[in-house]
Amino acid sequence: MSDLSYSASIRSTCPYCGVGCGVAVKVEADGIKLSGDQQHPANFGRLCSKGAALAETLDNEGRLLYPIVDGQRTSWDEALDCVANGFKKIIDEHGPDAVAFYVSGQLLTEDYYVANKLMKGYIGSANIDTNSRLCMSTAVAAHKRAFGADVVPVCYEDIEAADLVVIVGSNYAWAHPVLYQRLVAAKKARPAMLVVVIDPRHTPTCDFADLHLAIAPGADAYLFNGLLHNLRREDALDLGFVEAHVEGFAAAFEAARAVSSIPKVAQVCGIAETQVSEFFRMFARTARTVTIFSQGINQSSSGVDKANAIINVHLATGRIGRPGMGPFSVTGQPNAMGGREVGGLANQLAAHMDFSDPASVDLVARFWDAPRIAQAPGLKAVEMFQAIESGKIKAVWIMATNPVVSLPDADRVRAALMACELVVVSDCVQHTDTTACADILLPAECWGEKDGTVTNSERRISRQRSFMPTAGEARPDWWILTQVAQRLGFAEAFPYTQAAQIFREHARLSGFENGAGFENSGKRAFDISALAESDDAEYDALQPVQWPVNSQSPQGTQRLFTDGKFYTPSGKARMLAVVPQLPAVAVDAEFPLVLNTGRIRDQWHTMTRTGKVPRLNAHLFEPFVQVQARDAQNYQLQDGGLARLTSRHGSMLARVQVSEDQRPGSVFVPMHWNDAFAKLARVDALVAPITDPISGQPESKHTPVRIAPYRPAWQGFVLSRTRLELPDTSYCACSRGAGYWRHEIAGETLPYEWRGWVEAASGKAGEWIEYRDAAMGRYRAACLQDGRLEAVFFLAPDQRLPEREWLSSLFGQAMLQSVELAGLLAARPPKGAVSDTGRTVCACFSVGEKTIRNTIQAQGLASVEAVGLVLKAGTGCGSCVPEIRRILERH
Ligand code: SF4
Repeated sequence: MSDLSYSASIRSTCPYCGVGCGVAVKVEADGIKLSGDQQHPANFGRLCSKGAALAETLDNEGRLLYPIVDGQRTSWDEALDCVANGFKKIIDEHGPDAVAFYVSGQLLTEDYYVANKLMKGYIGSANIDTNSRLCMSTAVAAHKRAFGADVVPVCYEDIEAADLVVIVGSNYAWAHPVLYQRLVAAKKARPAMLVVVIDPRHTPTCDFADLHLAIAPGADAYLFNGLLHNLRREDALDLGFVEAHVEGFAAAFEAARAVSSIPKVAQVCGIAETQVSEFFRMFARTARTVTIFSQGINQSSSGVDKANAIINVHLATGRIGRPGMGPFSVTGQPNAMGGREVGGLANQLAAHMDFSDPASVDLVARFWDAPRIAQAPGLKAVEMFQAIESGKIKAVWIMATNPVVSLPDADRVRAALMACELVVVSDCVQHTDTTACADILLPAECWGEKDGTVTNSERRISRQRSFMPTAGEARPDWWILTQVAQRLGFAEAFPYTQAAQIFREHARLSGFENGAGFENSGKRAFDISALAESDDAEYDALQPVQWPVNSQSPQGTQRLFTDGKFYTPSGKARMLAVVPQLPAVAVDAEFPLVLNTGRIRDQWHTMTRTGKVPRLNAHLFEPFVQVQARDAQNYQLQDGGLARLTSRHGSMLARVQVSEDQRPGSVFVPMHWNDAFAKLARVDALVAPITDPISGQPESKHTPVRIAPYRPAWQGFVLSRTRLELPDTSYCACSRGAGYWRHEIAGETLPYEWRGWVEAASGKAGEWIEYRDAAMGRYRAACLQDGRLEAVFFLAPDQRLPEREWLSSLFGQAMLQSVELAGLLAARPPKGAVSDTGRTVCACFSVGEKTIRNTIQAQGLASVEAVGLVLKAGTGCGSCVPEIRRILERH
């Protein structure tokens, strides 16, 4: 724990997304108080709904608190011996490539560094890959091809300084909320700034857009190739820049010729010619342009080409290396960038070096004094789990990630782990879909306990500082790795006793034999050698800084390529000849719809942390599938009904949301739900294990599926003070509310007798009241103890069930009033009750949809600002503003 006095403000970094917002934490007698760090250059005090709720996630409920081997609690010594002996035995018998690490963008850079050094340097295999493979390995490959190094050239200020911001394949408003809010603020201040969103879906990001191109899924490279050609027609190429600083222009231009006329581009992209022309004109006429891209580009079987098609137009116009210009890959995870720096990807070495260059392998081997260093890339995430399935990999150590939920073909991933000889999982959460497959569980420190560094999307290294005591016997990930390395016989190379030591070594490696000249050619972009001599106090006080941080730029580097010099052998950037590809597997008669996956506003990854917070669960509380109205009609789906989605790989159940935001022929399902929160709701069980051939990133945005209504024998919901295991349910989605758990359920067989089922399921003793309509098949029951509501059950043969909001509010009362009791089983609030607020829209101030609608109507409100003034909704983090605007529009 940081040596900072009680109640002093401790500055740390949010553990969720790649924006990397600073948070200021105060540890006070009545609990931990958390706010946005006003001084942090990523957010200047802003936080989104998830970041603002961090303090509510810090309890120890569900934590893995001590080591467990084969289901039995054990000591650290014993558990570490088991891990080391297990790995050693398999390595001795089958060689180093029979073992693997699967790590995470949630790890701190110091953890990542030790994991990579142990696997690549000392075990001698490159079988270490990270879940960042699923999110941005495509951008890494595209950067390397274009710039000669994995470098994000721009910074957040460039977004604000741009005159045109193009957002491609990103629901930026929900996935990078604070950065989106910075863009919104910049556009409000400078209304002439243009924003274009390119996305098959109409997402909340479109709220502020001047133009939305709802292109056909996967058509991005056609659009950007067409743009490249059009730039010449519009005389917008910077041929001087191309001549001096770029190679490959002619081939790239020629490759783009096939589909380059506006009518052809419009046809392939499935949008109007006028929209294509308007976008091309905007781009051609606006020098200060930033193109933001994310998973919609990256998660594709030709993602690297798509990313290079985007980079191509920036190179052809010289729009790079200057304020307000450049291609900008935004990362999903808090430390995806840190993982890239240390070589967390199986095809990287360390400090931005590669296996492709024998001199780099030699350099790292000498620096680490590691004669057994791996000589070739290891298996990328999807291949790694296929190798586990085939038995080629016999031992895997999974750190801080949940691949049984997040990897494609997730059912096979689970089966592979169940059959694997040795599965070690280090995590801070005890019960996840992945920990259920583990032989050995190692308790890791969680956010608030951990201490180290992370790097955000603009190359900014920030400190994550500890501010609370470690729970149970949890330990830092780097410590666990160090202990195992020592037991494997590598004590001399792994002497670490604190994170600062590791950071210094990492910084030294970044500068080791890293070109002394001023030309970029021959140098490595990642260089933080100026931090290599930081003492412990300096490390502890490290201020957010953008790399490179070296003798030439001791204060860090805001923007790269300002001198037009790149990290290729020639010093010139490369334009790539991109031949657009359609998604690897097309829809067909059997699987006629395209499944797209992504994030929602208030949940993070597999919900282990955000799922604890009632107000974050109140916005979208169930796994859902968004379907366009015509498709809903074609497939006989009802809004609010249940549906079964099936692909060639698996199936799932989800609640139907009919929405005009979808393109016909496409459906969207969030990526978050898993067995810990819902039955049969892991969308990655459906996703095909198809990857980009260069980056190895899975095509998570395009899986052919079919959909059909799921009509169970009965449906219902249960609200209960405790979470319940409900038997005989085919569908069950649980979410935590304020003082209660909500269970949305369905089943295929009717229990013999409802009363017995309900009492057994609730496990509650108390006074039961019930209502039954045998003819209609409806049953309702409530359990009270001393007048306090313990649970309510509402069961019916269809989805016609009452609203949950008023019933939920009753759990906040110590004793129900007689009028409430009278209305309980009718779910009818007493006259004048204000509890029927509707689904939460504003998570910051817990304002519901009905409250907003009613207030708009009653007070004649006509703007988002007016709603904010009356209800405060939308005045916190701002993430709900697009939804409030929609409610206003509909009203
Ligand atoms: Fe955390 Fe990202 Fe939200 Fe910032 S935008 S508070 S980093 S989740």
